Amino acid sequence: MDFGLTEEHLMIRDAARDFARTELLPGVIERDTHQKFPTEQVKKMGELGFLGMMADPQYGGGGMDTISYVLVMEELSKIDASASVIVSVNNSLVCWGLDTYGTDAQKEKYLTKLTTGESIGAFCLSEPEAGSDATSQKTTAIDKGDHYVLNGTKNWITNGGSADFYLVIAQTDKEKKHKGINAFIVEKNWDGFEVGVKEDKLGIRGSDTHSLIFNDVKVPKENRIGEDGFGFKFAMKTLSGGRIGIAAQALGIASGAYELARDYSKVRKAFGTEICNHQAIAFKLADMHTNITAARHMVMKSAWDKDQGRNYDMSGAMAKLYASQVAMDVTVEAVQVHGGNGYVKEYHVERLMRDAKITQIYEGTSEIQKIVISRGLLKD
Ligand SMILES: Cc1cc2nc3c(=O)[nH]c(=O)nc-3n(C[C@H](O)[C@H](O)[C@H](O)COP(=O)(O)OP(=O)(O)OC[C@H]3O[C@@H](n4cnc5c(N)ncnc54)[C@H](O)[C@@H]3O)c2cc1C
Repeated sequence: MDFGLTEEHLMIRDAARDFARTELLPGVIERDTHQKFPTEQVKKMGELGFLGMMADPQYGGGGMDTISYVLVMEELSKIDASASVIVSVNNSLVCWGLDTYGTDAQKEKYLTKLTTGESIGAFCLSEPEAGSDATSQKTTAIDKGDHYVLNGTKNWITNGGSADFYLVIAQTDKEKKHKGINAFIVEKNWDGFEVGVKEDKLGIRGSDTHSLIFNDVKVPKENRIGEDGFGFKFAMKTLSGGRIGIAAQALGIASGAYELARDYSKVRKAFGTEICNHQAIAFKLADMHTNITAARHMVMKSAWDKDQGRNYDMSGAMAKLYASQVAMDVTVEAVQVHGGNGYVKEYHVERLMRDAKITQIYEGTSEIQKIVISRGLLKD
């Protein structure tokens, strides 16, 4: 495996770094405080090509590799994890899913708008009674010949209120269990579709998380993704790649907090010297940097596996499991390095600490990652 980044990788990483500093940093505290969706910033990220990075250029995508994507995710997440989750969902769950499994007509109609940021996508699997156990779908899609009729409720949907197109997983044939599940493309303005309550969250408060209600929503048959019964596999395959993006998000949150702690420790004085000269603080920085470096290797390895066409179910799950724990540990320590200042918004580390927690929950909790990893280990 070659860890050397190409000129193109460095260019896209630097573009994301510049964008995060100039466009995301101003206003990030305000957006967090008021749960404000970064509408303008998302538009600009679309123009920069951050919303459909890996998708086929024929449909407006960047045709880039997964390494480029994780580099961008890390840089954006250092500053604003609310903005980066929007990027992550649009890229790895929505665009990748459509690009890989959609028909030409679906790609022409939907993917071309999603890759450019003209439209935003959401991925709708979770339900009030189907989170970790995604097979327990209660949302139904009844086959009516030339269309399906959708009924049910999804919750915790990222981009729930801001999206234009929704990939919705629903149960078509309960008897067939997970083989009776399908995935559909649903448009926001269709009759019977309603955006429900917006969640008031601990972290990633700038992203909008909603429940969604489907009340006799008519979905044309051409909006089903893949063969009949492919929906559960579609969701699992898509989430497998999504985890690489969330691992990169966790890595970015940790890196951002570490850099703030390192810089602060060089200027804050206590007992007549900069606090970095106290070994207790210097050792915290050493631990943070070591763990972040290990997490980065795991994130890059899983992205590389995907780019090489190798199986990335386990390496992606391990990267997410590890990087999300590192994000928690590093952000807590970054607050500690800042002392009282770490506890107020102005210094950013308290937000990063709150944002870190979600990386252990969505796209499969840490416990679910351990199930994926242990199944992978024991399958032979
Ligand atoms: C901010 C936010 C954004 C989200 N965005 C999306 C989105 O865009 N689309 C979407 O579909 N979903 C989304 N989710 C939902 C998220 O993926 C689920 O919350 C997550 O999968 C966990 O499901 P749950 O909340 O129902 O927890 P539960 O499944 O009820 O789990 C509760 C606890 O039990 C543990 N547990 C459950 N089963 C097992 C087991 N077999 N072994 C060991 N431990 C177990 C879990 O790890 C967890 O600790 C989002 C959630 C949040 C909070």
